[in-house]
Amino acid sequence: MSTRLYDLIIVGGGASGFFCAINYSERFLNSKVLILEASNKLLSKVRISGGGRCNVTNKCSDPKEFIKNYPRGEKELLGPLSRFGSNETVRWFEDHGIPIMAESDGRMFPVSNTSESIIECFLKLCKDHSIQISCSNRVIGFNRKENKWIVNCTQQDYFSRNLVICSGSDGRIWDCLEELGHTIISPVASLFTFNVSLKSLKELSGISVNSTICTVKNTNLRSEGPVLITHWGLSGPAILKLSAWGARILESMSYEFEICINWLGKDQRTITELIQEHFKTSGNKQLYNVPMNNIPSRLWKFLCQRAQINPEMSISNMSKDLIVDLAQTISNDIYNIAGKSTFKDEFVTAGGIHLKEINFKTFESKICPNLFLAGEVLDIDGITGGFNFQAAWTGAWIISQSIDS
Ligand SMILES: Cc1cc2nc3c(=O)[nH]c(=O)nc-3n(C[C@H](O)[C@H](O)[C@H](O)COP(=O)(O)OP(=O)(O)OC[C@H]3O[C@@H](n4cnc5c(N)ncnc54)[C@H](O)[C@@H]3O)c2cc1C
Repeated sequence: MSTRLYDLIIVGGGASGFFCAINYSERFLNSKVLILEASNKLLSKVRISGGGRCNVTNKCSDPKEFIKNYPRGEKELLGPLSRFGSNETVRWFEDHGIPIMAESDGRMFPVSNTSESIIECFLKLCKDHSIQISCSNRVIGFNRKENKWIVNCTQQDYFSRNLVICSGSDGRIWDCLEELGHTIISPVASLFTFNVSLKSLKELSGISVNSTICTVKNTNLRSEGPVLITHWGLSGPAILKLSAWGARILESMSYEFEICINWLGKDQRTITELIQEHFKTSGNKQLYNVPMNNIPSRLWKFLCQRAQINPEMSISNMSKDLIVDLAQTISNDIYNIAGKSTFKDEFVTAGGIHLKEINFKTFESKICPNLFLAGEVLDIDGITGGFNFQAAWTGAWIISQSIDS
């Protein structure tokens, strides 16, 4: 590899690195662009993302709604997503030969249903634009002298007018960024599921309830939506949202806390009335035989037991007090959480470069001119559903349009 002066060097051969390199090269034909990748694999997270299908973005096309999915970066991403958001991403992929489809929950995937089509497309575009790629070549330092960047790598040094850091959540490059004056927000896990030791709950593995409200005791953390019972505890959108918004608080509690689930998402009085109404039309069956709407029968039986009511009792023997006890359990069901588990191997971390140090019109560092940063290296993270890739595409695209030739 030559030691000539590049127009653009990109640190990281992942999602944001490739997207930035390609868009810059499409803008400035014949520019000299180099991607430096520490590992011997390119786009490795894209390959395994979305269960091998790559959930590229989310159908939610209004940036004001879209930003609500970022526990960190919400305010900062409004402007950028208005310039290059979900609609623009879908159009970009379609213009480059990758039609995108939406699933009923809003997640969007390539119609091919495989992340390989995105990888092939990116690699072909790099070839078409003569973008150079150097693998197994970790960037270990960089500094700016006489209007150019000197980039020190394990294989050799390189020189560039502009430098883009797209190193994801790998913290080994943070020392270099700190030396330049950047502030690092320490990393913590975001997007994880909750471990529960209660065996009788785990036996209900596979059951999902749609309209719950979940709160974490002694905090303001609250989320609504489906809860899924797993063989290790609790998962599903309501739990993942709590884990993302509560990333720092839950870490400070060493992931040991109490969660309260309201299985019907209604107040206790309303649930009491709903149970009374329900029982009026249930004849004189045994309690376990008449699960309420939206509560699967195995969970209903379990909740009766948690309320210390014999599920075999006939409805006619259910006193007002017992109905209130049942409503209390359904609306305020508390579990001890002891630890966390990774959600579908999707490791997402909160933390990275402090957002106040980035100009979000260009994604340029406010501290070092001609230094740009995109993707997970920034203290931005989204919930599951395509929001993390969208943040990477958005930042990378804006950088590609901001850098001069
Ligand atoms: C299993 C899994 C599934 C996921 N699924 C989805 C999904 O479906 N939808 C979604 O929106 N998000 C998903 N995510 C999150 C998404 O993959 C990331 O948010 C996204 O890849 C971030 O892009 P990035 O460019 O910042 O980092 P990455 O794609 O991680 O790329 C960073 C690259 O930089 C390289 N690097 C690091 N340090 C150096 C260095 N010093 N020198 C040279 N190279 C370096 C790394 O080796 C890596 O290749 C998933 C994550 C995982 C782990």
